[in-house]
Amino acid sequence: MKGIFPIDKLERIQTPFYYYDTELLRQTLRAINDEVQKHEGFCVHYAIKANANPKLLRIIQEAGLGADCVSGGEIEASVRAGFPSSKIVFAGVGKSDWEINLGLQHDIFCFNVESIPELEVINELASQQCKVARVAFRLNPNVGAHTHANITTGLAENKFGIAMRDMIPVIEHARQLENVKVVGLHFHIGSQILDMGDFEALCNRVNDLQKLLESHRIRVEHINVGGGLGVEYTHPNRVPIPDFKAYFDTYAKKLKLRPEQTLHFELGRAVVAQCGSLITKTLYVKKGAVKQFAIVDAGFTDLIRPALYQAYHKIENIMSNEPMETYDVVGPICESTDVFAKQIDLNRTQRGDLLAIRSAGAYGEIMASQYNCRKLPVGYTSDELR
Ligand SMILES: *Cc1c(COP(=O)(O)O)cnc(C)c1O
Repeated sequence: MKGIFPIDKLERIQTPFYYYDTELLRQTLRAINDEVQKHEGFCVHYAIKANANPKLLRIIQEAGLGADCVSGGEIEASVRAGFPSSKIVFAGVGKSDWEINLGLQHDIFCFNVESIPELEVINELASQQCKVARVAFRLNPNVGAHTHANITTGLAENKFGIAMRDMIPVIEHARQLENVKVVGLHFHIGSQILDMGDFEALCNRVNDLQKLLESHRIRVEHINVGGGLGVEYTHPNRVPIPDFKAYFDTYAKKLKLRPEQTLHFELGRAVVAQCGSLITKTLYVKKGAVKQFAIVDAGFTDLIRPALYQAYHKIENIMSNEPMETYDVVGPICESTDVFAKQIDLNRTQRGDLLAIRSAGAYGEIMASQYNCRKLPVGYTSDELR
């Protein structure tokens, strides 16, 4: 599968950099739209935080997805990329006043609210602008997800959302306020979830909560179940597009929508992870006492997932067809955690070879830092390099 990389073009670019296969991104978006069209009232937002590269945002916006933002900067990035404000939702536990004001100025579709103090601030700021803010309450469904502990968000112990037992009092409180309108319920249980049973558990919880709402004669316009669908990091070539059919079918079968209700999704990783690779150059091959190291010019400042969550990324030498040998692939940063992979097989690697660190389109470029005074990596699309 080395054939997917235009090596002659990549060789001329200063490494490290991100390379985005926009054809794969477009296929992925088509796969999402094909499934969504089968279900009435389904509506997908892209979670901007996974990757806010303007070239990708433009393509995602053109495919008709909405935007899920978690900061004022993300609202600005989505507006710049052409997302209509009627398709922008704004979530997050700690929204600043200027961010709320920005959302109000743009008349965004909905604020996903995580506490009563926040609700009151939104009400106050909306009244100053003579507006009525549309809000959904993010509930903490206390549903675990079979994923890394640092990326579960729906457990009672996590900082996110409002406890279920507070749902009715919070909604009743909101109804007393003049400048907010409760239009939805919001959930998000975590990320990199591949077990459909976890989403099923969320559906069951939503069904119970809707019954409880109805017993208080409350009906909301929409349910937002967040994102979290995972990708196959081990097999980016064999499974380049996530199983969107299984994902949407699970919700269609298990979640009991009321008439006229819409169901919103916020997918991040599943949209962009597989289309991106971090391309890095081998600087040195160092043979230690018991191991050999491929020392590359990318570090955790370019892709932090392995250092932050022990994440696995498949790595390929895209220039060598020599027999396989075993390497630790490490970066140049002065931290012991600056390791991309340990004891992996690569075609025999030498100084100058380009390596592709695969499935890096989500939570890659966007999480880059300048630690060690390093330059931020640039992202190139296959469209530009054709
Ligand atoms: C991060 C996040 C998402 C997207 O998560 P993915 O795992 O990338 O799909 C969706 N909704 C909210 C509220 C989030 O915080």
